[in-house]
Amino acid sequence: MTAHTIDGNALARQIRDQVSHRTAALKARGITPQLSIILVGEDPASQVYTRHKVNDSTETGLGATLERYPADLPEAQLLARIEALNGDPAVHGILVQLPLPAHMDTHKVIAAISPAKDVDGFHVASAGALMTGLPGFWPCTPHGCMKMLESIGYDLKGRHAVVIGRSNIVGKPMALMLLQKDATVTVCHSRTQDLKALTLQADVIVAAVGKRNVLTADMVKPGAVVIDVGMNRNDAGKLCGDVDYEGVREVAGWITPVPGGVGPMTRAMLLVNTLEAAERSA
Ligand code: NAP
Repeated sequence: MTAHTIDGNALARQIRDQVSHRTAALKARGITPQLSIILVGEDPASQVYTRHKVNDSTETGLGATLERYPADLPEAQLLARIEALNGDPAVHGILVQLPLPAHMDTHKVIAAISPAKDVDGFHVASAGALMTGLPGFWPCTPHGCMKMLESIGYDLKGRHAVVIGRSNIVGKPMALMLLQKDATVTVCHSRTQDLKALTLQADVIVAAVGKRNVLTADMVKPGAVVIDVGMNRNDAGKLCGDVDYEGVREVAGWITPVPGGVGPMTRAMLLVNTLEAAERSA
């Protein structure tokens, strides 16, 4: 069997089109969804990511600003700037690009963002809302993965989902979202014993580790859905995921590629969250 591909680029394009239409409707009512991005320091990957976020926003009709600060910006100044953005009614989403320089307390900085503008979904109030099933912003990457499952009409009820990775931004929220859809969820991590025994039972596997070949064909039940969140480089320097794509696609029923899978969906879901922040404020 060769797995069907879940095309993240195509799905992200559809979502961006929907965002464009909803944004146009909101603009007709005099409200332009506005995202404020803060970048502290010169991290090269962060510079690329924030540029993408601005471009994605403007291409779909959202307003976006990128504020850049030197790496030695005092934490108090960053907190004061966030406070000002919290109080600005023209700003609907605030995103502080991570990682922050070592002298800053990331938890404190994220906690300073108003939950109503927390479009990354990293605030403890957003995490709590997800955990309790209340409305709030969901982190973009796992939310994008859920949209991918939805796009193939996959009914998670009673299915066994195995999430590999337990970070606050991917693994844990992913597990909660799957649970909310009535999957039976197993969360694996670096101390998990016999990962293969668990993944072989899974109807859905989400790999969010950051290591190549964490999931190989012998670890996958025939027909399973495999979602690859990982972003790594192979020996040739090309982007690859956590999953041995060539091997696993011969066993799985559905698989997401890297690149062109979860990455574009993450970007699209940030636009959705920003738009929804503006819609809620209206
Ligand atoms: P992270 O914070 O480093 O978490 C990695 C998780 O993997 C940890 O929970 C760790 O366990 C677990 N782990 C490490 N080695 C393992 C092993 N051999 N077997 C099982 N679990 C293992 O990373 P993250 O931020 O969640 O990101 C994960 C990957 O997704 C990275 O490659 C990142 O670049 C990528 N990512 C992609 C997107 C996208 O848009 N495509 C977005 C976000 C992240 P412990 O908790 O025990 O240490």
